[in-house]
Amino acid sequence: MKIIADMHTHTIASTHAYGTIKEMIEQAAELGLYAIGITDHAPAMPGSPQEWYFHNFAAIPKTYKGVRVLMGAEANITDDEGNLDLEEIVCPRLEWIVASIHYLTIKESKRDYITNNIDACTQLYLNVADNPYVKVIGHCGAPEFKFDYERVIPVLAEKGKLIEINSSSFRHRKASVSNCIEIAKICKRIGAPIIVNTDAHFMTEVGRAEGALAALEEIGFPEELVVNSSVERFERYLTEKGLSLRE
Ligand SMILES: [Zn+2]
Ligand SMILES: [Zn+2]
Repeated sequence: MKIIADMHTHTIASTHAYGTIKEMIEQAAELGLYAIGITDHAPAMPGSPQEWYFHNFAAIPKTYKGVRVLMGAEANITDDEGNLDLEEIVCPRLEWIVASIHYLTIKESKRDYITNNIDACTQLYLNVADNPYVKVIGHCGAPEFKFDYERVIPVLAEKGKLIEINSSSFRHRKASVSNCIEIAKICKRIGAPIIVNTDAHFMTEVGRAEGALAALEEIGFPEELVVNSSVERFERYLTEKGLSLRE
């Protein structure tokens, strides 16, 4: 199995990532990827671009160097109501929104309540499932934000959210690995579509999803459920979502 699109990547706009958009796309082109998602961190993450950064993506061509470029954000889930740190006026302008939890970007008044609280995290993800702009649930295997997988994953699948198996969890967030595998096994059992991304913070990481792919292969995960495992499959997904294909 391989990925033909890397739909969760960061650039210097996030300030703790170190490649430009051009460098990230060029790397994708060099690897022969069909598409790249540029998903810099939304404003609640320290050092991230403010809202106006997300307003001018029309300046960027939808295909550059032969790679379909989807401009978006990694939005932060800020509370158990599933609110994101991107205004409703920004979200419809973005082609690609990954929604993730990071401890630091949860509203301060909610951090202690949500952390290590399965019920709160379950409710949080059930609420995010209702957000029409979210395409992907980012790296959701963190042990401190464990949720009721059996209850939430079918709802995410039903509402068309892709569950991300994030390859950098296998390198940088090892405490999440067993949960990622548990999540993947449930997706396999119920037929929930997933996406495999790298969460690259530098050009050399683009497309390098070996860790996640090896883990999926080990559990016999069906390739048909990995939306970015073939050009045909990914194009079908983009078309279903009303997004244009590579020019
Ligand atoms: Zn980051
Ligand atoms: Zn990320």
